[in-house]
Amino acid sequence: MPRGLDQALIERIESFRKADGGYEGDAKLAHGTAYGAFVGLGAYEDIGRTPPHALKLIQSLKRLETPDGAWSNVPGAPIGATNATAGAVTLIRHLGFPVNERAGDWLLAQLRARADTVWVQAFTHVTNRGDTLHLRNLLARFRPGAAERVLFLAHWDTRPRADQSQNLGQQRLPVPGANDGASGVAVLLGVADALKAKPPGVGVDLLCVDGEDYGDFGKDTSDVLIGARYFAAHQPPGYPPLYGVLFDMVGDKDQQFYYEGNSQAVAPEVVDRVWRTAADLGYGRVFLPGVKQALIDDHVALQRAGIHAIDVVDFDYPYWHTTEDTIDKVAAASLQVVGDVAVALVR
Ligand SMILES: [Zn+2]
Repeated sequence: MPRGLDQALIERIESFRKADGGYEGDAKLAHGTAYGAFVGLGAYEDIGRTPPHALKLIQSLKRLETPDGAWSNVPGAPIGATNATAGAVTLIRHLGFPVNERAGDWLLAQLRARADTVWVQAFTHVTNRGDTLHLRNLLARFRPGAAERVLFLAHWDTRPRADQSQNLGQQRLPVPGANDGASGVAVLLGVADALKAKPPGVGVDLLCVDGEDYGDFGKDTSDVLIGARYFAAHQPPGYPPLYGVLFDMVGDKDQQFYYEGNSQAVAPEVVDRVWRTAADLGYGRVFLPGVKQALIDDHVALQRAGIHAIDVVDFDYPYWHTTEDTIDKVAAASLQVVGDVAVALVR
């Protein structure tokens, strides 16, 4: 290929890219389609490359998922189409990402490759509306025999409905959850990497809870914090741990953590320890003193069961529970800050 030609081809392919990260040949359409993504991938394959911003591309497919577990080329379609589904599945697999129901298996495999032992808590939950959810908590343990233990947790589910989005069509779509869900899990995987390379000074449990964000946080909270409540009722032998730290919405590019109200009320000594550790690492401009908000989050379910758990959460995030909670809002440097603090806590 002549020099410069591949660059020209990439520019040509990228001219079909839409704001949602997907591809589509029809200039009139505002969003990418599964078919467009498939063609875009093929074009990159022809020049021996993979599409840039692959996560953004995969997230654009999230909007095209249908309630029957397939994909359509049109957002909000009631049932999937064969071609769109084949294109979407091919693309997701080709880029090395798990297809929907396999996401938990993928996460489990990542934890098993790093931890000393991994427990799976599989359970069902019947929602207010009578739907049966099949959920899984994943617990990765380092030094499982150690009596003194620290628990880090994050939720790995994402909200099925983006009810804070601007319009009704978007509100029916799932939240991609790059920050609300995935950021905390990413930190736990980074911590797992560090602890595999060098075992911790105390026992460490990394817990990925399911079903945090399914239902309402208002009056009836029976369909939220589902996994954390299950774990609180089914704790490992030797529990409670010394303390627990929940990481939720920790990846914002513009990252600031204040004390969370319920954490400071129940476990101020843990808040103090975490914030001091952050200050010692030079992160005093990110971990700021004082309570700003009190949140109902997974740590509350653990507190009710006697675990001194706190929430490290940056709730100042305009994309919360919208379809815009996507990977471009999250910074690797922000995840690094939180991961550094977590690792330092257990060295
Ligand atoms: Zn949420």
